[in-house]
Parts: sequence; structure tokens; C-alpha cells
Amino acid sequence: MTTQSQAFDEKYLLLDQQELQSRIKARRRELGDALCILGHHYQRDEIVQVSDFVGDSLALSRQAAQMKKARWFVFCGVSFMAESADVLSSDDQAVCLPHLQARCTMAEMADAPAVATAIDEIASISGQKVIPIAYVNSTAAVKAVTGSALGACCTSGNAANVVAWALDQRRACGDKAKILMLPDQHLGRNTAVAMGFAPEDCAVYDPALPDGGLSAQQIQRAVFILWKGHCYVHQQFTVADIGRVRSEYPGVKVVVHPECPHEVVQQADAAGSTEQIIKLLAESPKGQRWAVGTESNLVQRMAEKHGRDRVLLLSSKPAICRQMYLTGLPHLAWVLDNLAAGRVVNRITVEPDVARQARVALDRMISIKPSAAVTTRASGEASATAGPS
Ligand code: SF4
Repeated sequence: MTTQSQAFDEKYLLLDQQELQSRIKARRRELGDALCILGHHYQRDEIVQVSDFVGDSLALSRQAAQMKKARWFVFCGVSFMAESADVLSSDDQAVCLPHLQARCTMAEMADAPAVATAIDEIASISGQKVIPIAYVNSTAAVKAVTGSALGACCTSGNAANVVAWALDQRRACGDKAKILMLPDQHLGRNTAVAMGFAPEDCAVYDPALPDGGLSAQQIQRAVFILWKGHCYVHQQFTVADIGRVRSEYPGVKVVVHPECPHEVVQQADAAGSTEQIIKLLAESPKGQRWAVGTESNLVQRMAEKHGRDRVLLLSSKPAICRQMYLTGLPHLAWVLDNLAAGRVVNRITVEPDVARQARVALDRMISIKPSAAVTTRASGEASATAGPS
């Protein structure tokens, strides 16, 4: 990834909210259809309010790919999202990230050379093929390694379908293949277990240790090798939180994101991606109260929409993504003022070779059709029904 940056003008931090909002409004008017502001669900309210589209990372990148008239996408999110938007948009469109320190700590737990080494090590120790599955919350370079190793990307919403696809590949080579899921070990384990595998079918690969800290026997026995990565926001939800809300609010149901630890997902009533949680709450009967285990900004917005007595945060302390929170109106106004003056600042560009291979992994994911054998717990149904091979 390369960035075309210019130092942020600190004077913007001194402007009041009203001034920033009116500047943003004015710049949006001037730039018209050439500008598109993309806001992730975990952004602050003031950013969501001025975004043209609000969604999860992949939905926003796919939106960017459809916006042929736009010249500039300002991605209010974290860097891997801006990279995906750059990969999926055209060469004559630019993607800007308002705050360059907005980098997902989980995505940065896997770097491309370490992933390539892991694939080689696991293949050489097991004597088997390795099918990598990279969560979209990964760098473009990691997606590129995945694409060139004939793997695919996945989202938290379609992980079960992508794993079902990988299991088909595995069956095609006589079950002699390992599925490497990265960078989030929790999404990997939760998906495997939801599809009928045991936690013991998973082994955790620690990139800081030789051979991932795994013995040859552990690698041989595992179907899934899980990268030792996590999201600190979702990892903070605990089984004790579930016990507390159930005792404080009799009848409450709990829904959590699959980036939460396995024991939390097991105890919850439902688990699903951001979009699946939003849908579940929208479709839930009016009298049902939900405790939600995901990022606080999103939970607060859902509480405002559906009622504070119906939607509450699962934990007693806020679950804020500090990296998402870095982007505020001052950074957004600064980017827009520069664009209006003909200067593209904080542009995120993925090198063409990396972009090409990353796109292979993304396109492979998009081409994977939902498997009839897979259901999601967010729908309130039982876990996935695809079983171990
Ligand atoms: S919530 Fe977690 S996965 Fe999402 S951007 Fe923040 S650190 Fe990364």
C-alpha cells in the first residue's frame, strides 16, 4: 500500500462542530457526484450523518465499485477498507482515508510474508495442500498471498459458505488439505464449530514461533489452522457479561459478533455479522429485548432506533474501536477542503500486482454460491448443518 499524504492541518481541531458541518456541506455541494463519502457502521454518529453510504467494509467497497461517476471516495473507516475500495474501484478513481493512523489492529496481526511462510511450513510439515481463507479484515497484501495460493476471502456473514467451498476442495483431494483461516482465530473457530467440527479440529498458529508453535502431530490432526489474531473490541465480551444481563433483564436474548471468543458465541442466543445483527433486531418482535455484543457506536444507534429498553450493550463498559474513533469531522473537513482545492490528500493506493492478486481472492469469494447446507445462527436457526468430512 502506498499513501500520498500531506500533514493534517491541526487548525481544524479548533473549529467548532457547526463550522465543520457547514464546511462539509459546502464542499459536498461543490464536488457533487464526483465525491462519495463512505462511512463504516462503527464510525461516530457525526460521521455516519454526513456519509453518502453506511455499511460494513465489503458492502462499502462494492458500493464504490458501482459508483462510476465518483472521482474521489473518502472512506471513513480503517486502512484495509480503503485498500479494498481501491482494489475494486477503477484506476481513475482515488480513495482517501481521513486519518492515516486508522489501521485495524487485527488486520495488522497478519503480514503477507508471514502468511506466505505459514502456508509453506504447514504444507511441508503435513505433506498436504493448504487452502487459505482471508477474512476481509486483512491487508491487501495478505489477500494477494491468499489469491495466489488459490484461496478466497470471506466476510463474517459468508464465512460458513466459504468454508463449505474449502471443504469441497479438501474432499476433492481425498481430505488431504488444511484450511488456514486468518487473521481472526475466533471467526475461524466459531465458523468451524458452527459447521459441526469440534474445537479440537482447530490448531492455533502463532506466527511469532517456529512452525507456528505447533508440533507435526498437531498440524497433522487439525482440519483448520487458525492464525493467532483477534479483534480487541469483540474479544472483551465475556460469558460473565451474558450471565449479568440475563440476571438483570429476565427474558433478554443475546446476540454477538463471531469475532467474539468461542465460549461467548456458544452461550449467546444468536451470532452474526454486523448486517445480520442489524436485520435480526429490525425483524425481532417488539417486546423482545436484546443485549448486543459488538461495537458501541453501532449498538447505540440501534438502541436509538429500536428503543433503549429493547437494545443494550452486552458489556457494562463501552466497546469502542479506537482506530475507527480516530476519524472525526476535523479530518473529514480537511480532506474535503483539499479535494475542493484540487489536492488529493491521504490517498490509499494498492500496487497493481498486489491489487490484481487481492482481487482474485475477493472475486473467488463473490463467486462462491451460498451452500444449501449452511444456515446462520443470526436467523435464530440452529448452527450450520454442514458436518465434518
Ligand atoms: S472493531 Fe476490531 S476488527 Fe473492526 S476495525 Fe476495530 S480492531 Fe479492527
